[in-house]
Amino acid sequence: MKYNIALIPGDGIGPEVIRETCKVLDAIGEKYGHEFNYTEVLAGGCAIDEKGECLPEETVRICKESDAVLLGAVGGPAWDHLPGSERPEMALLGLRGQLGLFANLRPAMLFDELADACPLKPELVSGGLDIVVVRELTGGIYFGKKDIIETENGVAAYDVEQYSEMEVRRIARVAFDMAMKRQKKLTSVDKANVLESSRLWRRVVEEVAADYPEVELNHFYVDNAAMQLVRQPKQFDVIVTSNIFGDILSDEASQVTGSIGMLPSASLATGNFGMYEPVHGSAPDIAGLDLANPMATILSAAMMLRYTFGLLAEADAIENAVQKVLADGYRTADIAKEDETPVGTKKCGDLIVAAVLG
Ligand code: NAD
Repeated sequence: MKYNIALIPGDGIGPEVIRETCKVLDAIGEKYGHEFNYTEVLAGGCAIDEKGECLPEETVRICKESDAVLLGAVGGPAWDHLPGSERPEMALLGLRGQLGLFANLRPAMLFDELADACPLKPELVSGGLDIVVVRELTGGIYFGKKDIIETENGVAAYDVEQYSEMEVRRIARVAFDMAMKRQKKLTSVDKANVLESSRLWRRVVEEVAADYPEVELNHFYVDNAAMQLVRQPKQFDVIVTSNIFGDILSDEASQVTGSIGMLPSASLATGNFGMYEPVHGSAPDIAGLDLANPMATILSAAMMLRYTFGLLAEADAIENAVQKVLADGYRTADIAKEDETPVGTKKCGDLIVAAVLG
């Protein structure tokens, strides 16, 4: 099979981690008989430098024409002086909006080999940890009406949290479908004791649940969910929540895995199209030094194979290869202990390629 991938290396360590990820994808192609065609496009700071805007129209067009998008990271100090609306990071919001990426999937998986990096007590995570946060990405308070107004008490500001039934229903379906492929257990997180939008959220999630009788559904208020994630994280499998709650909870959940260099993510539209990227940023402090951990991006590519291309064995092969490299004792600097000699970005990629082909 042939698959067309739009590549957005971006800024900082983006090009380095994308280069290693393409090596791994090519190894998968060689082993399983697939062809991955890459079209490299500009977004972020490099696009500002070359085209005068962070998200050129051509980039969006090529992304739309591709089967999936793989992104490194955007941003960096060179563009920090720009006003908010012109900064490289605006490319991410533009891509989410223009590609209709309404569902953000953030797995928080603790590899046994990295258990030491987990800040929680070992007994809380023994046997590993595997949670997926499904976050609504294009609605809610980040996109609601907002303004700064004059009141009789001086200046005030507001941001409106608003969800339609349609928006809740489609993200709930993504989460239930995911639960069906995993432990058949779904936790919906809201603040229904206080917020009207959360009461609508809960009602619609309950309605969708009727189509998934095999899935065990429970509801947590967001404050309790935040507490339970560090108190008893293994009780969770799939969590579905709104944009702002998901922003916070996915960061919290992912921290139990120890390093930002290990965290993949997927943003999905309807019809299996998706954009895949590591959770980390462009890490300007280590850019170009062969120090970046490419595993988050490589694991993002595994998600792409699984969720957009439906290549389950191939996705497993990448994840197993990453696990093997860790089990063999290799670590990049961000996850190495003091007495361990770290491997560089390129060597890490080579080791994962060898594990895929081995
Ligand atoms: P960051 O994630 O880039 O870096 C935070 C820390 O983690 C740094 O010390 C960095 O060296 C380290 N780190 C990150 N990824 C790593 C990796 N793969 N391997 C080893 N170490 C890694 O966050 P930041 O410093 O807050 O942001 C830097 C720039 O990235 C900013 O311009 C920010 O706006 C942008 N950013 C972009 C995205 C994105 O493109 N999706 C996300 C977050 C931040």
